[in-house]
Amino acid sequence: MKPESVLTEKPPSIDCIRRQVADGTKTAQAFAEETYARIGAVDSRIHAYLALSRERALQQAKKMDAMAKSGQTLPPLAGVPVGIKDVLNMQGAPATAGSKILAGYHPPYDATAVQRLEAAGAILLGKLNCDEFAMGSSNENSAYGPVRNPHALDRVPGGSSGGSAAAVAAGMAVGTLGTDTGGSIRQPASFCGVVGVLPTYGRVSRFGLIAFASSLDRIGPFANTVLDCATMLGVIAGHDDMDATSSALPVPDYAAEMAKPVEGLRIGVPTEYFADGLDPEVRAAIEGGIEKLRGEGCTIHPISLPHTRYAIPTYYVLATAEASANLARFDGVRYGYRAEDANTLSAMYRRSRDGGFGAEVKRRILLGTYALSAGYYDAYYRKAQQVRRLLTQDFLNAFEQVDAIVTPTAPTPAFKLGEKTDDPVAMYLADIYTVTASLAGICGISVPCGHSSEGLPIGMQILGKHFNEGTVFRVAQGVEQQGVMPVS
Ligand code: GLN
Repeated sequence: MKPESVLTEKPPSIDCIRRQVADGTKTAQAFAEETYARIGAVDSRIHAYLALSRERALQQAKKMDAMAKSGQTLPPLAGVPVGIKDVLNMQGAPATAGSKILAGYHPPYDATAVQRLEAAGAILLGKLNCDEFAMGSSNENSAYGPVRNPHALDRVPGGSSGGSAAAVAAGMAVGTLGTDTGGSIRQPASFCGVVGVLPTYGRVSRFGLIAFASSLDRIGPFANTVLDCATMLGVIAGHDDMDATSSALPVPDYAAEMAKPVEGLRIGVPTEYFADGLDPEVRAAIEGGIEKLRGEGCTIHPISLPHTRYAIPTYYVLATAEASANLARFDGVRYGYRAEDANTLSAMYRRSRDGGFGAEVKRRILLGTYALSAGYYDAYYRKAQQVRRLLTQDFLNAFEQVDAIVTPTAPTPAFKLGEKTDDPVAMYLADIYTVTASLAGICGISVPCGHSSEGLPIGMQILGKHFNEGTVFRVAQGVEQQGVMPVS
């Protein structure tokens, strides 16, 4: 028997929504109401949303309808219903980061990316479930319960942005924001059969993001198509005075870049990403996608990224070290949860952190604190920084020869709930193809590229040079337009 699924039929594109709102065929209020109705009908089975922001959404929809009525030119996301991962601040809505320790916290301001979406006309529907502090690959680390994969309800949606991916796949948003520190946009996009973008580090301001690992954290869009993702990235990208790491490079016109054909682009295929541990059906789907690109006039080049095998240990030293520092601020004093039963300040800290953080977050704080401790700093943290440099150099060398690199996004399709929860290392290995680009700071995307024999989506990862999102979008659209469709 096929597992139960909750998918959408033909979701509207961003451009189609904006045109309909502009010419009055359908109001922004109707788009908003319809999406809330969909959430009401199916989210009890998916659990993508942690909070809804109906009042703010409907107010914005009315504003867009009034603009349309008075004949004003509508902004690029006018009337587009979007959801926001719960690690991003949105004024008037709770922000839990999937953690009990932030229960009851209401941030007093919008993250820059959230504010830019709304300024571009988007309707902010609410906050999306995720792994606690974005730590995880299956969304099973949320303190508020897991998200289910809309393609098969007994499977995980991927993580940590599982709610963001599942909401798009199930028609509970047209676009969403997620975050990616080691794969958390690309891997759930792949598991849920949607498009997810990892922008170059510095392309999107992190102001208002609840930090996990600041040198790795990135904010990016999910949508049904590459073009919709490109439109959303065009809106949220660009310098922000509130984030010193945001780049001042101008934001290109991605739609214009995508209008160029892919013919003549040099595509690198790294041998290290097609080795042991890759599911044969995933391999076949990605090879099919590569053949499509060849058919469109791309040239295919085997390449080597020789330090790939060090990526997982390097990532889990650096990400946990940064997390141990970032999460020190949650002490029961300023935000959210405070243990009631403590008589001294240190007991209050200890008990609030003990009761507030889940098991995976505690594991990472311990690992990171250890890696940074005086006697071990050189052996772990400094060494990992050096390996990070080598991994980056692997990509810089490769991009001397090729314009983009294609790989599987994840070694397998979506796994079953509970399948890896007892084995943290098996869970960490789900990120094996994604952490490298995170460490190198380069950009990438996951685009649907076929299905397994059980009908589960498979994603192709396409990586590009720093600030070369335009090329990544072009190649992704090549795969998408070619319609690498279900094998079953
Ligand atoms: N799965 C990886 C982790 O657990 C990546 C998470 C992320 O990108 N936020 O750290």
